[in-house]
Amino acid sequence: MNLAHWLDRAGLSDPARPALGLGSRVLRTYGETAGRVARLAGALQHLGLSPGDRVAIASTNSPDYLEALYAIWHAGLAAVPANAKLHGAELGYILEQSGARVCFASDGLDGEIAPHAPKNLERLIVIGGAEYETLFAADPVPVLPRDGSDLAWLFYTSGTTGRPKGAMLTHKILAAASAAYAGEVDTVLPGDAILHAAPMSHGSGLYIMAHVMNRGINVVPESGAFEPGEIFNLFRAWPRTSMFAAPTMVKRLVECPAECDSENIRTIVCGGAPMYVEDARKALERFGPRLAQIYGQGESPMTITVLTRDEIANSDHPRWGERLASVGRPFRAIEVMVADVNDAPLPAGEAGEILCRGETVMAGYWRNPEASASALRGGFLHTGDVGAFDKDGYLTLKDRSKDLIISGGSNIYPREVEEVLLKHGRVREASVIGRPDREWGEVVVAYVVGDAAAAELDALCLALIARFKRPKDYVFVEALPKNNYGKILKTELRAMDERRISPRTAG
Ligand code: AMP
Repeated sequence: MNLAHWLDRAGLSDPARPALGLGSRVLRTYGETAGRVARLAGALQHLGLSPGDRVAIASTNSPDYLEALYAIWHAGLAAVPANAKLHGAELGYILEQSGARVCFASDGLDGEIAPHAPKNLERLIVIGGAEYETLFAADPVPVLPRDGSDLAWLFYTSGTTGRPKGAMLTHKILAAASAAYAGEVDTVLPGDAILHAAPMSHGSGLYIMAHVMNRGINVVPESGAFEPGEIFNLFRAWPRTSMFAAPTMVKRLVECPAECDSENIRTIVCGGAPMYVEDARKALERFGPRLAQIYGQGESPMTITVLTRDEIANSDHPRWGERLASVGRPFRAIEVMVADVNDAPLPAGEAGEILCRGETVMAGYWRNPEASASALRGGFLHTGDVGAFDKDGYLTLKDRSKDLIISGGSNIYPREVEEVLLKHGRVREASVIGRPDREWGEVVVAYVVGDAAAAELDALCLALIARFKRPKDYVFVEALPKNNYGKILKTELRAMDERRISPRTAG
């Protein structure tokens, strides 16, 4: 099977149905989009690319993104979507490691990439540029048949530590992930919209296919980015709209003073980083029962566990609080296990590494047999995440082991302290780390964005958690260090803290 068939068939059976939206208007129908994609695929084949060759997309969000992605598949090639916010040298690394022969780049990014372009890159084509437009003059070609196990998407991990690795996602894996979305996260009916405000190279882009599969509309904001006011306008413009949003984006939507009529929102799917209970409650208050949460990683794209809209909204449930702090239950296509250091399953209530296997798990890392063997040892994906199941089968993520604080011999999970700090009305964001300490090994330190008094935060901690868990120091900052996906970078925060404490020794 080839994922490109879904678009191609929709172009034949439902040509007049809107496929692509830009801002609040319909840009192209399925007939038009499928026609353009078949011509762009023809142009790619004329460039001499062979089945399986990699073609990168380094672009900000745009409707062209979807066309480039589908043209790559249609021509039997593999896509390498790279985050447009990366530095030119980082993009150069991905282009080299993937062995990409062609790269589609958005206007401006070509200049960033050019000095770092590897030898294997034969063409850097600017989306919307003169050369790009000529590609649509090619004759349309039929979809090149592919095997389900053929590579479709090389998903480069965000690489918060070390070089990014390319998780190999095949046509079959992405088909399973799309079915999981449409079956378990959000029903997609013809005409339903998905708003791409988060990077299409990552989570949001992985939801394109489920919407093509069921003939929904993929909509890109005019700004190509995330602006809460604009998003609210788009919710108004498109009936039955969903979007993927990182928790920081959900928070910004909740805090945006502009008026939002949530009637048109189908689902705001949140994931990629911890969703704090307090933030989930506020989102529920603001938007009603329209929030869902997923837990996944590039190695099992968007598909490990799901906490559905109904579960988040069911505040009458006796264990609602715990469920809100969880990431939900495993998707049907996947088996999820919490294991000890020997990969033996642990009982409910005990924390260990989260392992999974099933239809959505990657085929391995591209050109990295050691990392593949290690991540997939014993036939299970080792996520590197720590979590515990409860008796009802809900999984709660704990902090990664490197973020765990050990103070005076006691384990302290930063998330637990962060959840408490966020209960204070004037704390916008909080991140808790361990600071090396001669006497205690480590002490708990809270970095806080907001204007709450340290004494009030201390009182809150004393009221809600064990004494030894409360921060010994509160540092108030304007912003927390985050990567391009809005994930808080604790390694960087620890380095910042070290520079603060001993500016001379830390250089
Ligand atoms: P990436 O492969 O870049 O999407 O990063 C995946 C990682 O993000 C996972 O391994 C988790 O550590 C984290 N993550 C993803 N979803 C969630 C979630 N719902 N809650 C907390 N952390 C998450």
